[in-house]
Amino acid sequence: MHMFKRAALGLTLAALPLAGVMVATGHDGFSSSNVAAQVGRVCIQDNTGGVYSNEVSQSISSVWNPRVKNVQLAACSGGITVTAVASHPSGSHYQGDMRGHGSVVIDRSQVNQGYLPLRVVAHEIGHGLGLYDNYSGPCSELMSGGGPGTSCKNAYPNAAEVNQVNQIWAGSLRNAGPGEVTLVFPTARDAK
Ligand SMILES: [Zn+2]
Repeated sequence: MHMFKRAALGLTLAALPLAGVMVATGHDGFSSSNVAAQVGRVCIQDNTGGVYSNEVSQSISSVWNPRVKNVQLAACSGGITVTAVASHPSGSHYQGDMRGHGSVVIDRSQVNQGYLPLRVVAHEIGHGLGLYDNYSGPCSELMSGGGPGTSCKNAYPNAAEVNQVNQIWAGSLRNAGPGEVTLVFPTARDAK
């Protein structure tokens, strides 16, 4: 865990010059005033082959970046990869360090049951930003996942979830993560 923390810090520092370039060129909605050493940067790589590319892109530009201030997402490699598979025994899930690294697998058969794909993708990326599942939460909570059922079409974190991400990334990765975890998209199936 200690070793990992040091590795993560190294990655953050290495990414800083790039963040500076992005400010200068005004790319990706990075806010010019507060992109500094205190803002974390998480790369999201779309490996869905176009299947959920829109959802990956929207998760970056519409869901997370406009809401959180201490971390910003960008389309690049070396962070979280998002892959789509026909089906997976665990359903859609995230595996990683909950601090900007890992892999998201989107189970297409689960999405086809009626879950909003943007909610699923944004939820799994939420794990990568440090949030845990809260199966019993309402639809207004992103991390309640499939708990509220397929009728839930909310793909955005609520204020409490945004606040939690900002606290986790305050000072850019100063708060240690839990280490390697695997978290599945919780659905009614898991509640039984
Ligand atoms: Zn989850």
